[in-house]
Amino acid sequence: MKLPGVTASRKIAIKGRVQGVGFRPFIFRLAKRSGLAGWVQNTNEGVTVFIEGKPNEIDRFISDLKNCSPVAAFISEMQAEDSVPEGLSHFEIRHSQNNSSKITEISPDIAVCTECLADMKMQPHRIDYPLINCTNCGPRFTIIRDLPYDRANTTMSVFPMCRECEEEYNQVLDRRFHAQPVACNNCGPVYELWDSTGLICTSFDGIIGTAVRKIREGGIIAVKGVGGFHLICDAGNQDAVTVLRKRKGRETKPLAVLFRDLESAACYVSISSEEERLLCSWRRPIVLLKCRSDHHGGLATGLNEGLMTLGIVLPYMPFHYLLMERLELPAIVLTSGNLSDQPIIIENTLAVNQFNGIADLVITHQREIYNRADDSVVRQIGAGMQIVRRARGFCPDPVPVGQPVDGILAMGAELTNSFCIGKGENAYLSQYIGDLKNPYTQEHYRNTIDRFLRLFRVKPRMIVTDLHPEYYSTKAGWELKNESGMTGKPLILIPVQHHHAHIAACMAEHGIDERVIGVAFDGTGLGTDGHIWGSEIMVADLENFERISHFEYLPMPGGDKAVAEPWRMAFSVLYYVFGESALGLELPFMNMISEKQREWTFHMIRNQVNTPLTCGAGRYFDAVAALLGICLRSGYEGEGPMKLEALAREGIQDEYPVVTGEVISLRNAFRIIGEEIRNGKPLWHIATAFHNTIATAIVQSAVTAARVNGLNKVVLSGGVFQNRFLTEQLVSRLNKEKIHVYLHAAVPSNDGGIALGQIVIAAKREKKHSSG
Ligand code: ZN
Ligand code: ZN
Ligand code: FE
Repeated sequence: MKLPGVTASRKIAIKGRVQGVGFRPFIFRLAKRSGLAGWVQNTNEGVTVFIEGKPNEIDRFISDLKNCSPVAAFISEMQAEDSVPEGLSHFEIRHSQNNSSKITEISPDIAVCTECLADMKMQPHRIDYPLINCTNCGPRFTIIRDLPYDRANTTMSVFPMCRECEEEYNQVLDRRFHAQPVACNNCGPVYELWDSTGLICTSFDGIIGTAVRKIREGGIIAVKGVGGFHLICDAGNQDAVTVLRKRKGRETKPLAVLFRDLESAACYVSISSEEERLLCSWRRPIVLLKCRSDHHGGLATGLNEGLMTLGIVLPYMPFHYLLMERLELPAIVLTSGNLSDQPIIIENTLAVNQFNGIADLVITHQREIYNRADDSVVRQIGAGMQIVRRARGFCPDPVPVGQPVDGILAMGAELTNSFCIGKGENAYLSQYIGDLKNPYTQEHYRNTIDRFLRLFRVKPRMIVTDLHPEYYSTKAGWELKNESGMTGKPLILIPVQHHHAHIAACMAEHGIDERVIGVAFDGTGLGTDGHIWGSEIMVADLENFERISHFEYLPMPGGDKAVAEPWRMAFSVLYYVFGESALGLELPFMNMISEKQREWTFHMIRNQVNTPLTCGAGRYFDAVAALLGICLRSGYEGEGPMKLEALAREGIQDEYPVVTGEVISLRNAFRIIGEEIRNGKPLWHIATAFHNTIATAIVQSAVTAARVNGLNKVVLSGGVFQNRFLTEQLVSRLNKEKIHVYLHAAVPSNDGGIALGQIVIAAKREKKHSSG
């Protein structure tokens, strides 16, 4: 039977994040409402819709499709073409077939939705069910083993659905239609409570009750989350925070805090409208926010000693809501459940063993985490967001790079590692892996590479590494190449310079494929001259780069030790400025270093013993932080620079002299800083003027390089540009010079973004090579 009034039909192919996010039921409801007939079907590349009916209804359908799609859905491409009406009588969801190597996007994990939170109070079979989810929310990436995204390919496969869940799963108009992780109190995974004696409780009510009591007493609890375990305690209890730090072996690194709601958070931190959007988004990252100066007390000071920012996250699991409801506290610490620098723990038995002695209680649940994912961390810089750590809620969103990168595996750098694989014209950056410094993280890295290659059906044909031969990632790349050579033609391996990769990553994010001025500022990266770079101003495109200017080289007394101990860089700076008389200077920080160490350090510098050369801006910031006495030993990457940034104040124009050119010299700046410290100038003043000086050095160098080369785009990348004070100043000053500034947004500015740059550079070089 033909629908009355059918005059038109349309076939629409949609690409993007349209599977596993409630997209087909949405289309179904939309078509029903508009009185359209046809069908919708998942394909290997996305979703195809066929509709027929009145032309004006079809137009309305297409516009609603674009504007009202489910929260986690994302349409990257949509092609609608006229078709021949088939005289269909109704609208249906057709079965999908997935059998080619083409794949569709995998949704990141989604924070629990408000409808599910309501169901948790209302639905008889889901009262207080802490793993409730629907097509619009719940775990995705962390539970998926393989494509297509069906329950059988997730860690939920071991839980057969009860009759009720199955009915919901099969009912097109139900919110849980094809919600793969659907579960309830009758059929789903449950929570378990463990202490040092073993399993002590499986009733959820009992678990929450015990947890609440323990937290109020100042205890520490390990809780299994979406992508791994967390350690939690009362964020208002200084003793609990101290104990947590001590037991976890995390002495100074700031701790993230979960607030019960936005209103409670707003009492402690200032929240812009953009920051509110980030806090409340379905990706639910930790957002770095500015502490309110008018708020004293309530939160432990040991959360973020020496900093003016606090990492804040809102509840994103049903468990968080249920806990905070009963706890009646504004906030709890929510920090990754890992030991020192090892990966976040995901296995239940391992957690029970490893957290023994660290946590007073361990709360697990039976839903297995297949892909580990830490909480993501973001920060607003300028008008937009910059991602600092990219994992839960963001991974595995692809970055479209506008050129074929198929079959390329980029190994990334050494610290805050992420790797990247290419599929078609998409780059898939892995979740944050960590510092490749211990065997556990290295194993996690290798396993995750295997999983990505399998999941996205990529057979690598080319490997990209950093130039640094000692990085674990570089060695792993060579191993893959050598292994491939034993069974066939060895893979091609391309090494890429660290700072060029930084710039290319930011260019790729913005779709820039031309010559630009690149400003890559970070702590460490091997240069082509064998020295350690990190204050690079270059002319770059996606294929090559030319170094234009950089900071003067300074010796790093003790090599890598100077990274962990910024006071060594302060000595290096003093020797560079004052020569032999540096030893006799009486700066307060020097008294905190033993005389023997002082003399030995100067001996090393004087005689060039174990003093590799660096121009890394991170080391310059370290030196000033140590000179000011605010960070002599670094407990975490970037501690010195972060503490220096915390001191800087807006609205102060003072700065120190700087000589720009091929080599940028801060010699006179350091001389004055030394004098000002002796004269008791306020620390915040020196910190502010130092930031302003670095900004001037960059603006002058970049503007000159731009004018000389006839360019007007400046790309900023590297960990230094996580510094909001510096970066916002640079953007406004460069804009005044009619220069377009490009910052990272979806990919980290730190070394977590390097692999994206590596992949596009390799693709470009290969293309050039094969065409000429
Ligand atoms: Zn939901
Ligand atoms: Zn059920
Ligand atoms: Fe770097």
